[in-house]
Amino acid sequence: MAATARPAPTPEPTARKHAVVIGAGVAGLTAARALGDTCERVTVIERDTLPDAPAARRGVPQSRHLHVLLARGALALDELFPGFLDELTAAGASRADTQGDAHWYLDGHLVCRAPSGLIAYGASRPLVEHQIRARVAALPNVEIVGPAEVLGPVTTPDRGRVTGVRVRPRADGAEETVLDADLVVDASGRGSRAPAWLEELGHARPASTRVRADVVYVTRRFRRDPRLLDGRASAAFVPFPRLPRGGAVLAEEHDRFAVVLTGQFGEEPPTDHAGMLAYADSLPGPDIAEVLRAAEPLDAPVKMRYPAGVRHHYERLDRHLDGFLVTGDALCSFNPTYGQGMTAAAQQAIVLRGLLAEGADDLPRRFFRAASQAVDTPWLLAAGGDLRFPEAEGRRGPVDGLLDRYLTRYRAAASVDPVLGRTFLAVAHMVEPPARLMAPGHVLRVLRAAGRTGGAGGTGANRPRAPKAAP
Ligand SMILES: Cc1cc2nc3c(=O)[nH]c(=O)nc-3n(C[C@H](O)[C@H](O)[C@H](O)COP(=O)(O)OP(=O)(O)OC[C@H]3O[C@@H](n4cnc5c(N)ncnc54)[C@H](O)[C@@H]3O)c2cc1C
Repeated sequence: MAATARPAPTPEPTARKHAVVIGAGVAGLTAARALGDTCERVTVIERDTLPDAPAARRGVPQSRHLHVLLARGALALDELFPGFLDELTAAGASRADTQGDAHWYLDGHLVCRAPSGLIAYGASRPLVEHQIRARVAALPNVEIVGPAEVLGPVTTPDRGRVTGVRVRPRADGAEETVLDADLVVDASGRGSRAPAWLEELGHARPASTRVRADVVYVTRRFRRDPRLLDGRASAAFVPFPRLPRGGAVLAEEHDRFAVVLTGQFGEEPPTDHAGMLAYADSLPGPDIAEVLRAAEPLDAPVKMRYPAGVRHHYERLDRHLDGFLVTGDALCSFNPTYGQGMTAAAQQAIVLRGLLAEGADDLPRRFFRAASQAVDTPWLLAAGGDLRFPEAEGRRGPVDGLLDRYLTRYRAAASVDPVLGRTFLAVAHMVEPPARLMAPGHVLRVLRAAGRTGGAGGTGANRPRAPKAAP
């Protein structure tokens, strides 16, 4: 067979002099931190006018909604920005043992409470981003510029390597300009145009996996009275097939509680107070309803829809645009119910920093492969959770049914066995691998607990109630 002629490889630049990051969200800022170690200069270009104080903004519509920083994400941010967690706590974030100081309802069962050492942080997304931005802005070789929109990459004539980006400042009559760069990182979020940009340049679009989630989020903030929830910082209700309703309450800065109600596959939380209360009353525990009944509301409820988890498989491309990377939600966007996005973004930044320290050769292939491995676990947890619902479209493997039955029993057993509870939460917080749930000792514990849990679906106070009539 005749060999196919391949285009001559574009020679590698010896060092990365200037890197451009598209978007100053959590992924863009953490990527800038990673690049700052090895690139001479880093420019982060943001479309929004960035506020001086923590505030929600247009380019990040999810910023008004409850955001939890998982234990793994907290550790990752502290690794990238030493002292970050102390700063976040000093700025008012709550800090709590996720098993000892919180209520978790899994399939309607309240996870057995015990100190776990798994620490999660409660802060609004604007505060988390503000604290990260302050640290990035203080780096001597990083500049955050805007408001300006990146319109696409500029490349060498053979379209093999990126040489910069086209930028249009957001000002009346502003002209499009080109900013030279030898590395471009797209962190523009879920709406990333990178697949289309690649196609326009004659490259292949990455394949994508989509798992329908059909989530509706309603968030509202309340004044936190420490007597509420017996002083606990949070409670979380994970939706499950028999009750596709969920929610969470989380203490955050300014002595506030953020409350979110979620619905999936046709369930939709209302936005009026009476309706929200009735919805909260239909959850398998009293926590959110208690806050809604007693606490003073501080703002109006906001609603957001999230149709599907989407993962772009850049790692499967045969040919990469050299010097062009994609990270954060632009690479993989998870059903937000699992609270993984900021953690995954920070982990990808750590991956990038490690790879850059090893050298710049063949970076896209190396990065996409390693980032894909980093994304595997959160994707497995989020997509796996969604695929429990018969309505979720997505590929199910032959052993999924068996696994689902085991994990259903596991969730029930976690209500009577604190060790099982800790491992489940450690996996959910991404500090232990999902395989731990299937460790032989854990399988035995699940079997032993069977007689004490009343089976799947909860017992007594834990039993999920059927949703009340639609409020
Ligand atoms: C309802 C909801 C709740 C969530 N809850 C949680 C949670 O509890 N915990 C958690 O960890 N994660 C949560 N997430 C996910 C989390 O918000 C994101 O995964 C995380 O912040 C990383 O986002 P990002 O930086 O990749 O993208 P984004 O936050 O979307 O930021 C992208 C940035 O790029 C800018 N931009 C876009 N296009 C351009 C352009 N062409 N030029 C210049 N700038 C551009 C935008 O203005 C924006 O600032 C939630 C998401 C949703 C939708």
